[in-house]
Amino acid sequence: MASTDTLIKQVLANALTQRREDSIPADEVPDDGLLPLDIFDDAPDFDVFRERVPDSDESFPEIPASLAVLGTYQWMASPGLITLYRGNIEAYWKSLIRHAQRQFPFVTTKDAERVLQLLVYSVYQHERFHYVCDFSRRLFGGSFDRWHEEALAVAWEWQWLKSQDRWNSFYGLMHPTLRRVVVQSMFDHRAPGYRDWRQFANQNNFYDAVTAYLYPASIQTFNGTSFNFGAWAVAHVPDDNNRAWEEQIGR
Ligand SMILES: [Zn+2]
Repeated sequence: MASTDTLIKQVLANALTQRREDSIPADEVPDDGLLPLDIFDDAPDFDVFRERVPDSDESFPEIPASLAVLGTYQWMASPGLITLYRGNIEAYWKSLIRHAQRQFPFVTTKDAERVLQLLVYSVYQHERFHYVCDFSRRLFGGSFDRWHEEALAVAWEWQWLKSQDRWNSFYGLMHPTLRRVVVQSMFDHRAPGYRDWRQFANQNNFYDAVTAYLYPASIQTFNGTSFNFGAWAVAHVPDDNNRAWEEQIGR
């Protein structure tokens, strides 16, 4: 099982299943009802998670320096290493649900699970984008720009999210009001680098910026063709069947 799905199962088992078993008689089928409004009262304030710091570097401490570190990408030494931090992701999820319930109190257990999927996959996609950058630098020798890369990594989360907008996906099935509240909150970045992602929200701008950042010479290399290096890199460098990275779940 992919590390993302393992992590989702672990968090749900910890936060929801336990509670259901405690509060529902054994002979009753658990319902798919609304999440109690006080269920995540002990979650940290949502503003805590706006204090993001760059998460692509040579190495990271085993225990993240701040609660706002949801994932990291450690450069290839080789291989590269994606880490998803279970405790921090769970805290962020609870905080986000509580934040959303204040605007939309009708969050179901099923929708809360979908929000968790959205969070975990987004963090994972963000870290995969840092891998694309690291990999490309090793091939094409570009230089590292910490802040610009964070803006692009968030913009990639956005591009990825748009590709999930199908009626039958976890994203499409989410209540539209909840989805709007959650997505707006998730992408309301205030930290340096991260907050600049909107410049690359448009897909063409995003691809152009990725090309310029990772392999500006592609303009000459592919002159006279319609080849788009940025589009190719994000689609094909993180190849699950041909990886130069590993991934793990951190505490
Ligand atoms: Zn990042």
